[in-house]
Formats: sequence, structure tokens, C-alpha cells
Amino acid sequence: HAKDMGRNGFQFFSPEMNRAAMERLDIERQLRDALKLDQFALHYQPRLDRNGRVTGVEALIRWNRPGHGLQPPGRFIPIAEESDLIILIGEWVLATAAAQLVAWQKAGIEMPSVAINLSARQLRLAGLPGQIAAVLQDSRLPAALLEFEVTETMAMENPERASRLLGELRDMGIALAIDDFGTGYSSLAYLKRLPFDHLKIDRSFVAGIAHDQNDVAIVRGTIALAHSLGLTVVAEGVETAEQLALLKSADCDEFQGFHFSRPLPADELEVFLGKHSQTPTPP
Ligand code: C2E
Ligand code: MG
Ligand code: MG
Ligand code: MG
Repeated sequence: HAKDMGRNGFQFFSPEMNRAAMERLDIERQLRDALKLDQFALHYQPRLDRNGRVTGVEALIRWNRPGHGLQPPGRFIPIAEESDLIILIGEWVLATAAAQLVAWQKAGIEMPSVAINLSARQLRLAGLPGQIAAVLQDSRLPAALLEFEVTETMAMENPERASRLLGELRDMGIALAIDDFGTGYSSLAYLKRLPFDHLKIDRSFVAGIAHDQNDVAIVRGTIALAHSLGLTVVAEGVETAEQLALLKSADCDEFQGFHFSRPLPADELEVFLGKHSQTPTPP
């Protein structure tokens, strides 16, 4: 637009766009040092079954960005995804989650599984299964303690390659989940060819179920179909008791969301686990 142009007519970016581009460059530059400066942290969000038992946690990365405070992944993962930085970050996440599992084992804290989010670039790495196997061996952890989450969009980018790599992980005894289900354009008919164990319903549908009959229909249909394909279903973004009740009546298997707990640093999660094991909700 003409109004976005400067006096000389050669300014293609509005001041806001310039600011956004500068900010992005800034993040990119700072991200490159973040690993060696130890600025990343994992927070853990519990997932519960219908009886209120914790079935595992999801590891969610945060970045303690100098001068900006704790940043959610949405602020930096997409930028890291544009270079090999995401591979290094992915390795850090894997190593840190494994170390945390070992620490919990040593402390006698029962943790059935830790779920790790994979990036699109990691899913293209033929060496990923080997890398994961090495981490498991070094930490002497059983593969069954690890789970990986992949969005349907990532899996559909190159279904053959994804199928091969995910198959290798599955063969190692690692559980796999389709993340953010419903936000992409894939069909369950196609996804069933991939070796998934769990399906996570995107929180945008969960957000609507208390007032939108379409979302209720989508959630019920997805759960029924997923079950018929042998997948267990996790609802993400459960924020209210009403949503939980509706999801339970739709036969949903597991639940994750602020209604139970936000993602927490490991020590705070331990407090949650301690409190929670004393007050299990009846079936
Ligand atoms: P995701 O895997 O779908 O993770 C769930 C997101 O929903 C998390 O956001 C979590 O904090 C948020 N959430 C959980 N319960 C609720 C709720 O009740 N209400 C609302 N409004 N939100 C809830 P977060 O931590 O900002 O992560 C965003 C995304 O970043 C993740 O989505 C995942 O795709 C990606 N991500 C996180 N950690 C990693 C990582 O280590 N590696 C990679 N590659 N991606 C990551
Ligand atoms: Mg996830
Ligand atoms: Mg998700
Ligand atoms: Mg999501």
C-alpha cells in the first residue's frame, strides 16, 4: 500500500513489519547462544486417566531469554525450525528429559512416561532412532518410559518417510502420539497406516465442547473412530470440570490441561504428584 511507503517510495516495509523483522533477527541471534548459556528449561504437564491417576507428563520447553523473561515455545521454536538449531535443541530436550527420568527413578518417584514433542526437522533425520537408542542406553532407561508426539501435519509431509522412522521408534518399544489432532487436513483413514498408540485431540475442540454442538460431534466422532482403530485418546487443553465431564461421557481415555495443572518445573510437579496420589478421584 502507498501509505506504507516512505517519502521516496522505496520503503516496502511498514515500521511495524520492520520491528517484527528486527525482533526475529534478535531472537535468532540470541537463540544461537542459548544452549551453551544453559537458558532452556523443561516444564512438565501431567496427563491423567479416568480414575485421576497420573499416566505421564509432557515435557514442554521454555527459554529464559535475557531481558525478556521465560518465553513459550511458540516464540522461538518456529524460528529454530528454520535452521539446524532445532536439531541441537531437540537433542537437548531428549537428554534433559532422560536425565529427569533418571533423577525421578533415584528419588523413588514413580513416573510412567515422559512425552517429548518432535519437530518437523527431527522427523526428517534418519539418524533419530539411533540417537534416541544411545540416550536410552547411556541412561539405562527402558524405552517404554519415553513417548514422542508428532503433529498430523508433520506426519503427512512425507508419510512414507514418517512411517519408516516412526516404525523404528515403535519397534524400540517407544509409544507414539498424534498431536493437535483435528487441526490439519489428514484423515484418520490415512493416519491409521502410521504406527501411533495415542491420539491427542487439539484443545481448540475441547474449548468448544461446552457450548458448540459441532465440537461435541467432532470430539465424539473422533474418539469413537480412534478407538475402533485401536488408539487411546487424550484430550488436551481441559480447563473446566464441565469439559472434563463431557469428555468422560464421550469415552475419552486421558486428560491434560489447566483444570489439573499447568506445565510445571520438575520440583513443582513433584509437589503436584505428592498431593495428587493422596486424593485420587473415584472412577
Ligand atoms: P503441544 O505439544 O500441543 O503442547 C500443548 C500446549 O498447550 C502447551 O503450550 C501447553 O502449555 C498448552 N496447554 C496445556 N493445557 C492447556 C490448557 O488447559 N489451556 C490452554 N490454553 N493451553 C494449555 P506450550 O508449552 O506453549 O507449547 C506450545 C507448542 O510448542 C507445543 O504444543 C509443541 O508443539 C511445541 N513444543 C513444546 N515443547 C517443545 C519441544 O521440546 N520441542 C518441540 N519441537 N516443540 C515443542
Ligand atoms: Mg504435544
Ligand atoms: Mg498438542
Ligand atoms: Mg496443541
